[in-house]
Amino acid sequence: MTKEKIVIVGGVAGGATAAARARRLSETAEIIIIEKGPYISFANCGLPYYIGGIISDKDRLLLQTPAAMRKRFGIDARTGHEVTALHPSKKTVTVTDLASGKTYQETYTKLILATGAIPFIPPIAGLEDVEHYVLRDIPDSDRIKTLVDSGLAHHVLIVGAGAISLELAENLITKGSAVTIVEASGHVLPQLDLEIARIMETELRAKGITLHLGASLQSVGSDGGRVLATLANGETISADTLVLVAGIRPNTALAKAAHITLDERGLIVTDTRLRTSVKTIFAVGDSIAIRELVSGSRVNIALAGPANKQARVAAANALGGDEAYSGALATAIVSAFGLAAASTGLSSFQLEKNGQEFSQTIIHSTSHAGYYPAAMPLTVKLLFGKNGEIFGAQAIGREGADKRIDVIATAMRGRMDVHDLARLDLAYSPPYSSAKDPVNMVAFTAENILSGLMKPFSHSQLPSLTPQDVLLDVRTPEEFDLGAIKGAVNMPVDGLRENLHTLPKSKKLYVYCASGQRSYLAGRILAQRGFDCYNLIGGYHTYKDVYLQEPTAAAPTQSSEQSLAAAPIQTLTVPTDSEITVTLDTCGLSCPGPLHKVFETAKKLNPGDTIKVTATDPAFASDIVAWCDRTGNTLLQQSTDDGIITAILRKGPATHAIHIDHAENNAKTFIIFSDDIDKVIASFILANGGVSMGRDVTMFFTFWGLNVLRKPGSVPIQKDPISQVFGLMMPKGSKHLHLSQMNMGGMGTSLIRWLMIKKNIGTLETLIQQARDGGVHMIACSTSMDIMGIKKEELIDGIEIGGVASYYNAAERADTNLFI
Ligand code: FAD
Repeated sequence: MTKEKIVIVGGVAGGATAAARARRLSETAEIIIIEKGPYISFANCGLPYYIGGIISDKDRLLLQTPAAMRKRFGIDARTGHEVTALHPSKKTVTVTDLASGKTYQETYTKLILATGAIPFIPPIAGLEDVEHYVLRDIPDSDRIKTLVDSGLAHHVLIVGAGAISLELAENLITKGSAVTIVEASGHVLPQLDLEIARIMETELRAKGITLHLGASLQSVGSDGGRVLATLANGETISADTLVLVAGIRPNTALAKAAHITLDERGLIVTDTRLRTSVKTIFAVGDSIAIRELVSGSRVNIALAGPANKQARVAAANALGGDEAYSGALATAIVSAFGLAAASTGLSSFQLEKNGQEFSQTIIHSTSHAGYYPAAMPLTVKLLFGKNGEIFGAQAIGREGADKRIDVIATAMRGRMDVHDLARLDLAYSPPYSSAKDPVNMVAFTAENILSGLMKPFSHSQLPSLTPQDVLLDVRTPEEFDLGAIKGAVNMPVDGLRENLHTLPKSKKLYVYCASGQRSYLAGRILAQRGFDCYNLIGGYHTYKDVYLQEPTAAAPTQSSEQSLAAAPIQTLTVPTDSEITVTLDTCGLSCPGPLHKVFETAKKLNPGDTIKVTATDPAFASDIVAWCDRTGNTLLQQSTDDGIITAILRKGPATHAIHIDHAENNAKTFIIFSDDIDKVIASFILANGGVSMGRDVTMFFTFWGLNVLRKPGSVPIQKDPISQVFGLMMPKGSKHLHLSQMNMGGMGTSLIRWLMIKKNIGTLETLIQQARDGGVHMIACSTSMDIMGIKKEELIDGIEIGGVASYYNAAERADTNLFI
């Protein structure tokens, strides 16, 4: 048998691995690596971190050196040598020693091409005259690092917003550079779906990165030593340094010149043994087309993992083995500023492009049990087919995105479906996960869709809703008040069953809550009563991520949260930790949990007391600003560190932060004498308005007004016969009241209720709930109760019983006293 002589072109991920495996399989083969660059087997994935100084020693990037390769493996690794031509018929390659310029022929029995990729340089007018940088190898990173370290890269303009771009941007920011990114796609990380990418964009902006999305760089020029870049929309950007990280192209010129078969994208075509069209030549890594496991189509998956696995297979087969390479899933992860976005399989964009029908679901969960400290938000998206097949998944969060995507990638490799995912038994204790892991949870929602328990609709369908459709927000009135989808009516899920009669059966109901859980329950309540309803995937959380974080909404170098929070902060004295009245840890809770805790805590405090609250729900940053604004409390400070939002608030308005004088006579009191629904609605609207202006509001219910406070249905209590008759004749609670005029046998009342929902006012019951939650003092007149035979047990919760003194106590502090 002839001795194998394996020549490998390219000595990094694919090349070095192929060489090492070949040696492990054969002690007799002659193995040569020919690498044109100065290094072999370096960690190109570590290059951005080397620029940022996280990897401080360049040698740490070098996994192997030619000397070590020779010593340990007996491999001849020649750096600074370039293969310039292949001669398959002669089984030789032409090599140039780049140092000496000398050219020689090298023979082989088997050749492995591991030539990787080259940076894609987009067509930009004037580029040839302007200094610009790419990031592919160690010399590239040295060039950028030198500029940054010498303080010459104050402002770096990066073209492209893929994974490498984001990693580079993070490291440049760490080094003190300003960064602007221009990306032709409408969002960063174009390989991911919009809902996931937008969360990353928020993080990038919060860290001061300016994003130009859906923008292309048209031309560049020099302007006094700086780069002047002009976008297609005419905008100009002046920067010190221009870096192009706009993708890659397969490095296949050698193969093409040797007539090795390439596909229409210029990728080397290989068989399952990773042989090219020439049987003695194998190819691996970024330059080849491989089978993508979801679609079965041949694509380029330019990632280190597949390159290494292919190299092992090619080496074995070059030595006469018969190993098959079945293909790969594109499983990847990128992190910027501690926020990791991971994905596996296909995105919705790729599925659409392939003409593949699919469904999708999004959950907003936490990295581990919400009640255990430091739980971090985690968003998971799952794409699946009508038979439950998993097409792809994406996750984003500060912790646990990698684990969830790896689990799903493993399931996909094992050809499991969403039902299997739902049944996976995953490790759980509070610091690590939840009893229902986010992987299980996302699969449960997928199962609900597949089984028809839930009909999903996407945020992208919102614009096509017509006035014939009802957009129903089933969150609490407080959440609704802080922001809702335009045109939505608020009907909290907790009161939904009682309000069903106000909803039209003839219309489609598009239901949403914060994340999709409550709206699923609402959907079940509605569907079982014959309503045609749809659940917004990802809920208001996703809607907000996608639409309310537009660049225009924020200053270019500030997150919207920061800019919102900035104004009230500067002039106020911030208490030290020891001066804080209450410290609240709401990390792990999602909206409205943190806000609700703040609200409940603030209710028990005195004006001037302070709360320090920490939260991990990203929405909290803007919600707390709006909440303080609406409720007349003062936000003293807000900061975000590693995903943890810390807010310090003082109960009461800024100008009277410590000494709120409740005797300043701006309270409001109402005597509710009537139980006419129109008058009662007006009273509660006024009362809630007063509370939101920071006023102390008291409602004193007397005579017929007491009926508003009655519980629906009969309450089993002992009563004298007259009280029983009274009780039977009077309306039992807010749902049984009538209009003072145009009641028309109840039709007028139904119409008013319907109009209130349509006009976003909410139902009378939500107004009452709002008043209760907002701290309106509701007092039932004890004298009237006695006369009418109404007992405390018959009244709804949260009602105080008081007499004339209670009323005057409030009225004397008030500047407005209304009798309704
Ligand atoms: P490469 O590793 O690029 O090696 C090709 C080598 O061939 C080059 O060194 C080149 O000089 C040499 N060569 C080319 N032509 C010739 C010739 N004619 N003669 C001699 N030598 C030649 N992937 C991940 O999975 N995760 C990551 O986090 C990640 N981060 C990355 C970060 C950066 C900055 C970069 C650049 C890539 C990253 N990748 C990552 C991608 C991953 O590094 C590549 O998919 C992988 O290196 C491809 O391996 P390869 O062997 O095909 O090509």
